[in-house]
Amino acid sequence: MVKSTRENLQTTPSKAILDGLAKDGGLYVFNKLKELDLASLIGADYQKVAATVFKTLLSDFSGCTLKRLVQITYNDELFKPAPVSIQDVNGYGYLNLYHGNTFAFKDMALSILPKLVAEAKNINEVHVPNLVVTATSGDTGSAALSGFSTDKKNYVIVLYPTVGVSKFQELQMNNFKNDRLHVYAVDGNFDDCQNIVKELFQTVQTKNVQLTSANSINIGRIVPQVAYYVYTYVTALAHGFITENDSINFCVPTGNFGNIYAAYLANKLGVPVHKLIIASNKNDVIHQFFETGEYKIERTLHKTMSPSMDIIISSNLERYIYDVLGGNYQKLKQKMTELKSTGVSTIEEVKNQDLFYSNATSEEETLDVIQSEFKETGILLDPHTAVARGVYEKYKEETEDDTYTVIVSTASPFKFSDSVQKALGLESGDLLDDIKQLAEYTNTPLDERVLETLKTSKKKEELKKEDALSFLKKVIGDIDENQNTGY
Ligand SMILES: *Cc1c(COP(=O)(O)O)cnc(C)c1O
Repeated sequence: MVKSTRENLQTTPSKAILDGLAKDGGLYVFNKLKELDLASLIGADYQKVAATVFKTLLSDFSGCTLKRLVQITYNDELFKPAPVSIQDVNGYGYLNLYHGNTFAFKDMALSILPKLVAEAKNINEVHVPNLVVTATSGDTGSAALSGFSTDKKNYVIVLYPTVGVSKFQELQMNNFKNDRLHVYAVDGNFDDCQNIVKELFQTVQTKNVQLTSANSINIGRIVPQVAYYVYTYVTALAHGFITENDSINFCVPTGNFGNIYAAYLANKLGVPVHKLIIASNKNDVIHQFFETGEYKIERTLHKTMSPSMDIIISSNLERYIYDVLGGNYQKLKQKMTELKSTGVSTIEEVKNQDLFYSNATSEEETLDVIQSEFKETGILLDPHTAVARGVYEKYKEETEDDTYTVIVSTASPFKFSDSVQKALGLESGDLLDDIKQLAEYTNTPLDERVLETLKTSKKKEELKKEDALSFLKKVIGDIDENQNTGY
C-alpha cells in the first residue's frame, strides 16, 4: 500500500498511479517495504529483476501482468542494445541508462508508465482516454511523447522552455507532433512551464479524458527506476566487481531527486548501500540543503550545460524529508507550508544523516571532466553524467572511501553534442554533421535512431508565458469536447 506524505491517507498503488499527486497536495510514498531475496537474483537478466521489483512495489497489480508488461517493454526492440549496460572502469563503473528511444534515462520509466496507467485504469474501472500534460526541461518531454504515443487513444501536451533545451532535444520533441501530440515552446524557464502545468491541473475539469501527469512525482515513474539499482547490485556481484560482504555507492546527477530517490528505495529493499552521492550542477540547491539543512528556494535559476538538472524546486525531495521526519506528516506539512510562504525551511535532520553525501560541479569543471575522462578512458560523457563524475572525484578526495561506486550515466553524449564538442575543442555547425563527426572523432558507437531523429524537422509553436494558460485551457477543452464526436 501507499500513503500520502501530508495526511494519514492510504490508497492502492494503482490508484496512486492514476492520481499522480495525492488529493491533499502530498506525494505518495510506500508505507511498508518487504526486503527482496537478492541472492535469488544474482546473475538474473533485466526482465526478471524488473518483474520482481515491480511486483514487490505495485502490490495490487497481478504478477503475471507485470511480467508481461516488463517483457514487452525492456527488450531489444525498444532498448538497443540492452535495457541498461554496466561499464566497469577501475574501482568505479558507469550504469548507462540511455539505450531507449529518446536517449536519456527518462525512457526507463516512461516507456512502461503508459502500460502501468492502462492497467491501473483496468483495475479501477476507469474507461476514458488519458490526456498527459507535462512540463519538461527537455528529456521528459520526448520520453513521454514516445511512451504514450504507442497507444493511439492517448493525448499528450508538452511544454518546454525556449531557453535551455539543447538543439537536439527541441528537434526530437517537435518531430513527435501530430493531431494527438502537442508540443509548445514557452518563453520562460522550466519553473514557468511547471507552474502553468500545476495551474492547469488545479483549475481544469475534464469529463471525457483523464488528466494524467508524467512528471516524476508519479510513483509510476519511480518504481521502474528502482529496478535498475537492484539489477546493478546483483550484476556487480555476478561479475565480481564486488563480493557478497561489500556494499556499493551510487553517484547520481540530480535535479528533481527522482532518480536518486529510486536508489534510496533500492536500499530500503535490501541493496547494501554505503553512500548515495548527490551530484548537483551550478544550481546546487540540493547540495546546499544536505550540507546545511537549509532548503532555500528563493534563488536565481542558472542556465547550464546540463539543463535537465536546472531546477530549484525539487519535487521528490518531499518524499525523503517525510522519512527523515520519521513519517510525521503534520510536521512535514508545516515545513512545506513554511517553505512555500517564506521561501526557506530548515530541517536539521537532513544535515545530520549519513547515508547521503552531496557536492556540486561547476560549468568549467564539467567541461574539464568530459575532456579528461575521454582522454583517460576513451569514454564520452554527456554533461549531466560529467557533473556526477566530477562530484565522485571530490568525494574520493575528501573521504578516501574505496567502496565500488557506480556513476549513473543519464544521457547519450550525442543528445548534448554542442557542449561535448566544446569540451573537446571541436567546432560546431550543422547538427547532423556535428554528430557524425563527434562519433567518428571519439570512436563512440552512434545509435542509428539518433540519425533518424535528425532526418526531419517540424515547425515549432511558441507560446508567450502570459497567454499560455488561456490558450492551453482551450486546447484541453476542445480535446475533452471532441471525445464525444469521435475526434
Ligand atoms: C532528468 C535528468 C536528470 C535528473 O534526474 P532527477 O530524477 O530529476 O533527479 C539528470 N540527467 C538527465 C540526462 C536527465 O534527463
